[in-house]
Amino acid sequence: MAQQFEDKFNRKFYYLRLSVTDVCNFKCTYCLPDGYQPPGHKRPAFLTLPEIKRVVTAFADCGTSKVRITGGEPSLRKDFPQIIETVANTRGITKVATTTNGYRMTKQVDTWRQAGLTNINVSVDSLDPRMFHQITGENKFTEVMSGIDRAFEIGYEQVKVNVVLMKDLNAKELPAFLNWIKDRPIQLRFIELMQTGEMDELFNKHHVSGTDIRNQLIANGWILKARSQNDGPAQVFVHADYKGEIGLIMPYEKNFCESCNRLRVSAMGKLHLCLFGDHGVELRDLLQEDAQESALIERIQAQLQTKSVSHFLHDGNSGMTPHLASIGG
Ligand code: SAM
Ligand code: SF4
Repeated sequence: MAQQFEDKFNRKFYYLRLSVTDVCNFKCTYCLPDGYQPPGHKRPAFLTLPEIKRVVTAFADCGTSKVRITGGEPSLRKDFPQIIETVANTRGITKVATTTNGYRMTKQVDTWRQAGLTNINVSVDSLDPRMFHQITGENKFTEVMSGIDRAFEIGYEQVKVNVVLMKDLNAKELPAFLNWIKDRPIQLRFIELMQTGEMDELFNKHHVSGTDIRNQLIANGWILKARSQNDGPAQVFVHADYKGEIGLIMPYEKNFCESCNRLRVSAMGKLHLCLFGDHGVELRDLLQEDAQESALIERIQAQLQTKSVSHFLHDGNSGMTPHLASIGG
């Protein structure tokens, strides 16, 4: 193995979030409220299978064991099963996860599992079909729920469900969400609404502090699980009366970045050291057939030395990220 990816703050990176498309078929209010807008100019194609193979191999050779395939909506790629297979067949990769809006799960999750997908996160912002429609812009609640059922049917032992709670929209559903996981092995992941370039107003209107949610959980007997060394920034809570768990993702909490263990590659082949960084570093020229893996690793290692200790969200600075669909959330 080449040298493990590590930055100057001794953070080790074993987790790659790989975006495979910017395109999405939903219009989530906090992400792509007007839907996916193709750029005015002709954009380069998204990463191809051979490029994906090369980038994942280099990461695996430097200690990465988990890859999350994300987007945009990753399942919109026709070759999504082949992407999963390519990642799963890379030596050193033991976990292949995806984050999806779940729209295609009922029909396709069997194929994803056969291709080697080990973990699934589905975004479900409401258990009320009308609110789900209002937040995502799509009337697809029933399809998404049946996709989750299908994942359990075919053998996934746990499914993670991402929820962004928002004031005056779905925040009042916290008790309904808790009730939902009483008998289901679902890890609910409450992601605190993050401010991105294009949505100051929405943020100010709907942001719910993760601390409020945490206080409500503690008051209801939820207990914080001890962290193991490789755990990411989520705080996981458990409760004796519930089969499910809760993960709290609170990017505004002090020290959130201390446990950062992930790097990102965009669908255009740019390395992002932080979700809220101010630039992406071109890797694509080194993902071509005639390029050397050692040069790719060297470029990533050099960039890692410039990774900041933390993001600057507290200063209202979300870097260059216009919305999370652009580099995969
Ligand atoms: N389309 C897929 C989905 O929605 O699951 C994957 C991409 S999406 C960008 C990944 C995750 O980011 C979703 O769970 C979504 O809820 C979350 N997300 C997007 N914009 C966000 C924001 N401004 N604040 C917090 N979470 C956000
Ligand atoms: Fe699409 Fe996911 Fe963004 Fe919603 S959060 S618009 S499903 S990329």
